[in-house]
Amino acid sequence: MIKTDICVIGGGSAGLSIAAGAVQMGADTVLVEAGKMGGDCLNYGCVPSKALLTAGKVARSWKKSPEFGVNYEAPAVDFQKVHDHVKAVIADIEPHDSVERFESLGVKVIQAPGQFVDAKTLKAGDATIQARRFVIATGSRAMVPPIEGIENVPFLTNESVFDLTDLPKKIIVVGGGPIGCELGQAFRNLGSDVSIVEMASIMPKDDPDLISVIRDRLEGDGISLLEQTKVLSASKTVEGVSLRVETNGEQREINGTHLLLAAGRIPNLEKLGLEAAGVNYERQGITVDKGLRTSNRKIYAAGDVTGGYQFTHMAAYDAGIIIRSALFRLPAKVSYNAVPWVTYTDPELAHVGLSETDAKKQGVQYKVLNWSFADNDRARAERRTEGKIKVITSQKGKILGASIVGLQAGELILPWGLALSKGMKIGDMANVIAPYPTLSEVSKRVAGSYYTESLFSDRVKKVVRFLAKFG
Ligand SMILES: Cc1cc2nc3c(=O)[nH]c(=O)nc-3n(C[C@H](O)[C@H](O)[C@H](O)COP(=O)(O)OP(=O)(O)OC[C@H]3O[C@@H](n4cnc5c(N)ncnc54)[C@H](O)[C@@H]3O)c2cc1C
Repeated sequence: MIKTDICVIGGGSAGLSIAAGAVQMGADTVLVEAGKMGGDCLNYGCVPSKALLTAGKVARSWKKSPEFGVNYEAPAVDFQKVHDHVKAVIADIEPHDSVERFESLGVKVIQAPGQFVDAKTLKAGDATIQARRFVIATGSRAMVPPIEGIENVPFLTNESVFDLTDLPKKIIVVGGGPIGCELGQAFRNLGSDVSIVEMASIMPKDDPDLISVIRDRLEGDGISLLEQTKVLSASKTVEGVSLRVETNGEQREINGTHLLLAAGRIPNLEKLGLEAAGVNYERQGITVDKGLRTSNRKIYAAGDVTGGYQFTHMAAYDAGIIIRSALFRLPAKVSYNAVPWVTYTDPELAHVGLSETDAKKQGVQYKVLNWSFADNDRARAERRTEGKIKVITSQKGKILGASIVGLQAGELILPWGLALSKGMKIGDMANVIAPYPTLSEVSKRVAGSYYTESLFSDRVKKVVRFLAKFG
């Protein structure tokens, strides 16, 4: 029997942040992890996907090189070595999330699945744990969509795709969200034939204006994008897999050597004993209030398992809220008005705050400001002029949201998040001194465009001419 201040179930992005924070602030902390420390992000998500994408970018770079007067031949991809590179990146980060590190911080780590037996008690392996506060941070996994015959075909998910040691000849990706588009592009750049099948439009949570830039790039690079397309059934073939799909009422077969499912996520709720613990949940995740407490006030939930924003940085954000509430008894509450997200395709797509669609839905009076990467000297020098920034402000110039598609959009979004969380006005961004020539200038210029009409108006011209008369 272990009695502790805080017991965290799940050692992924959310659980590790909470455990590390809690123990370093003096709380007796137990961490229960059923699988690999680091969870999805380190082992099957952010880290391997970015490592694979980078390998893909390197493989593709030769195509652009003649534009710079540099010629080299198409690369030979050794996929076993690409695999090794991905695993080496994971191994490099692993110590930070390891049992050894957490134990050295003072956390008691139990490597077994955790299950509540009543409202106050968790069983994990041989241990019975009673904690003043529990945190459920068991994450999510790839959903297997209800496709006829899917149980009879071999398929990959984010948990198995990074174990491939041979480059797929032809990979069909089901799901055109960020994960599907990122992995589809990575495999295409490395030399696979790629089809992405998406029921709606690709990346449906982002601004359609900006997505068109990504769509052009994916299709331009030879990915077959099947949008508004439903997968009806799947069957095994000698080569691999065949899918029967339907687009606008028309059916056809598409074939591949590999099938990757990236059609959404489901929370890891099974076998947690939630009923015994008195924790309510729905299909999309554990129900939490704004303080991330569940229906059992002594149990919190954080990260993907709540079905909210499923990003590593949001899991870490949840951790901060829970630490303030559970350890310091402060009335901490989540605020989602400045949540950023990035899709790491090339070009990247980044967003924070209110989108134009949200503004319309909420009946907010708003202004839209646009600035193109084609008008940015650094983007010209890099020959990467595809892309734009779009900013939503109130009528009085308060910054409400920003979206960027283009080179390094993910790096460019940060000041907009700061502006939102500090309630800044567009003038604050317009007045900043941006170093020249940087891509960051797009932020200053788009902000400046708010004033173009009034600044270069007939009224201003009259005032300037009038004042000139006084010498
Ligand atoms: C391919 C891919 C790419 C991604 N890329 C990005 C990105 O670029 N940026 C970004 O912000 N996010 C990205 N994400 C999302 C990100 O990985 C998740 O939002 C994040 O990992 C969620 O953290 P978590 O702690 O909630 O869950 P997880 O990281 O999944 O951790 C949950 C842990 O709980 C353990 N567990 C489950 N059940 C039990 C149990 N009963 N007892 C004990 N332990 C249990 C699991 O083994 C797991 O280790 C990506 C996801 C995928 C799949």
